[in-house]
Amino acid sequence: MDLFEYQARDLFEEHGVPVLQAKVADTPEDAKKGAEALGGGTVVVKSQVKIGGRGKAGGVKLAHNPDEAAQRAEEILGLDIKGHVTKRVMIAEGAEIADEYYFSILLDRANRTYLAMCSKEGGVDIEQLAEERPDDLARVPVNALTGIDEAKAREIAEAARFDAATTDKLVPVFQKLWDVFQGEDASLVEVNPLVQTAAGDIIALDGKVSIDENAEFRHETHAELRDIDAEDPLELKAKQLDLNYVKLDGEVGIIGNGAGLVMSTLDVVAYAGEDHGGVKPANFLDIGGGASAEVMANGLDVILGDDQVTSVFVNVFGGITACDAVADGIVRALEILGDSATKPLVVRLDGNNVDEGRRILDEANNPLVTQIDTMDGGADKAAELAASR
Ligand code: GDP
Ligand code: MN
Repeated sequence: MDLFEYQARDLFEEHGVPVLQAKVADTPEDAKKGAEALGGGTVVVKSQVKIGGRGKAGGVKLAHNPDEAAQRAEEILGLDIKGHVTKRVMIAEGAEIADEYYFSILLDRANRTYLAMCSKEGGVDIEQLAEERPDDLARVPVNALTGIDEAKAREIAEAARFDAATTDKLVPVFQKLWDVFQGEDASLVEVNPLVQTAAGDIIALDGKVSIDENAEFRHETHAELRDIDAEDPLELKAKQLDLNYVKLDGEVGIIGNGAGLVMSTLDVVAYAGEDHGGVKPANFLDIGGGASAEVMANGLDVILGDDQVTSVFVNVFGGITACDAVADGIVRALEILGDSATKPLVVRLDGNNVDEGRRILDEANNPLVTQIDTMDGGADKAAELAASR
């Protein structure tokens, strides 16, 4: 999960990384109050969107007093930056910048380690720097067990060719940024720019942090960082129901039990879809190995709520949860949904208690349900139905 800049700033502050004081505001009036609370002097008004390049897009503006802060906020609120509409701004104390540096810690998947990147040339687009002047971007592997201790921090600063005085100032900041990375279970901590002020202080002026949602269980406060507004409402609903659901952009809704079966179902549906005008899977939904009838009903409810779905393929191999329980779940879900269920369902059941499962569906005789015995046959039928609607 990517965080907003103000959330990254807060985490930095908690871990002792030097940052500027700041307030968030959703309206120009609050922006004015925020600027007053910061002392009434010069502030920077910054769009809070989860995308880089805000400065160039007009999303970062200087204001010399609280009234100007309100005006700048008025201009920035609602501003669309590469498809991200600004709903909130951060008002930060102004800083007198002498130099802008770059620093980041990320997971280097290819080399199976962490990587610190650092440059004296910060503030700019780092991808561009990496391409045009790779020598000016230091890359230092970081061992997960030892992290960034004083020696490693010094190694990074020296690799970026900082002078001795600046290196001494950067070393403790790099160590604290490692504390953020490790302590918050982040997969990315990026500071661009990390600045040196005219007074010689090092400050993290803009932070980008991604945290690993799988570690949420050991961070009570991380759930609050979630941006509910921006989340797909169906993904949110699925999460509340404890379903493993991922929205994709096709038309055929997929429900299966077990991640392996669901993934291969995606493949066969995509393959079958080629013969039916290129229809594709609309989602990944795994109801799990030991799914109850109720879980099946919840899953169907989520999938049928997706407007893009025009047919559904339920592909279940009965195991711990036998096919009759799955069939019961389907029948019950369709009863609960009543007239709101209008999309055709192709059901392929196999495995434990398959005969009873098929009998239950036959008996219910719901006109929306077609039973097919094989996975390939089911995928083809579901793709055909999706294409014909
Ligand atoms: P980004 O464009 O989304 O990465 O937003 P940044 O927060 O990095 O801001 C872009 C640029 O605005 C920075 O590189 C700085 O040059 C400038 N900037 C940001 N905050 C301040 C500030 O407090 N004072 C001054 N003078 N410039 C700032
Ligand atoms: Mn930046």
